[in-house]
Amino acid sequence: NSLSISPTTAIQSPLQIFVRAKKRINDIYGEVEQYVSDSCKFLSALPKDSDLITNEELVVVNSHVEKVKGIREVLSRDHMKVAFFGRTSNGKSTVINSMLRERILPSGIGHTTNCFIQVEKSENDESYLISEDSMERKNVKSVSQLAHSLCTGSLGDSALVRVYWPTDKCPLLRDDVVLVDSPGIDVSPNLDSWIDRHCLDADVFVLVANSESTLMLTEKNFFFKVSARLSKPNVFVLNNRWDASASEPEYLEEVRRQHMLRTVDFLVDELKVCGTRSEAEQRVFFVSAKEVLQARTNEFKGLPLNTGIVTDGFHGRYFEFQDFERKFEECISKSAVRTKFDQHTKRGKAVVGDARNVMEVLLERASAKRAAKSQSRREVLDHLDFTEKQLQLVTVEMKDKICKMVEEVEHKVSKALND
Ligand code: GDP
Repeated sequence: NSLSISPTTAIQSPLQIFVRAKKRINDIYGEVEQYVSDSCKFLSALPKDSDLITNEELVVVNSHVEKVKGIREVLSRDHMKVAFFGRTSNGKSTVINSMLRERILPSGIGHTTNCFIQVEKSENDESYLISEDSMERKNVKSVSQLAHSLCTGSLGDSALVRVYWPTDKCPLLRDDVVLVDSPGIDVSPNLDSWIDRHCLDADVFVLVANSESTLMLTEKNFFFKVSARLSKPNVFVLNNRWDASASEPEYLEEVRRQHMLRTVDFLVDELKVCGTRSEAEQRVFFVSAKEVLQARTNEFKGLPLNTGIVTDGFHGRYFEFQDFERKFEECISKSAVRTKFDQHTKRGKAVVGDARNVMEVLLERASAKRAAKSQSRREVLDHLDFTEKQLQLVTVEMKDKICKMVEEVEHKVSKALND
């Protein structure tokens, strides 16, 4: 039991890099939205005849309101996406179930995945699926119900069924990871359409190979096609069914060495997605998804990790699966932050830059107007000053004249009286 990663340790999970970045960029976009809408309100309230803003400038700022709203919607849907590929029965569904810690996808004999199945978090704690051919929500309570729903559909192998699952047992779903299972690459002729429809936005690809055989040409060809469309896709290779090696311990090391050599050759020399051999070795794992799923199912029920006969090397394989999960989480969260948020950051900067430019032009025009007004005010004041002084002069002169006239009149009157 001490081997298990409890869901509570998800706080330290490398997935938090993405979760925190998403929260931060959402907060920043909240501020951008406020800024743009305040700017719009302010500009619209300016008097129409003020000549401070042109119609084109108003349209630029108004159009940003819708743009920012759109980006916020995309942001809320942004997630980390991992797609699983490999031949039928290599164990893709079992790997996904192990990572989700719950038997969600049907697997095993009698069930082959014949369309793409995307598992993502359910926002309302209900489990349901939506397939591409109808927008109807079908409730699914169990794996068998899901298997039945998938079999009854008449979907093509490039079609997508979205399974929404509650997150209480699945830390990966809670942290915004979506997992995509694919039909076996050995049976589908539609690889190009698969890549266009399901791979271009994947952050990580996991090739589930069968450690009982070597990598097949069909598996390699698929990844050649992917890397022709995407520059340096992140590829992990799981050599699954490694528990089978326990029955032949004398060949175990030799077989592992050979698989490692060939897979590293493939990643470095053929696919060129890893720069060095040691980097590639960090992308190759030898695991048993079936054992991990069983152990995690036991763990959930409060039982010891393995209740039946313990196959030799179980603990090593279990550790290696956990090691894969850790490296995968680190890789997917960093890659998703780069690919998803880099674009949003650039757009956000452009929006704020545009709005600021308009505001700056407006400020310049307003300052120029104010300067012009204060100049004419100064001229009027000077004129008034001059008039006032003139008046003063005139007043003094008049006063003297009146005094003289009064004196003369007085003089004349007293003279007349005397006479
Ligand atoms: P998919 O077609 O690639 O999705 O393969 P599934 O997940 O359906 O697995 C096919 C069969 O292989 C199932 O019966 C699984 O139980 C079994 N299987 C999956 N992983 C392992 C493993 O690691 N070891 C062993 N022995 N069997 C496995």
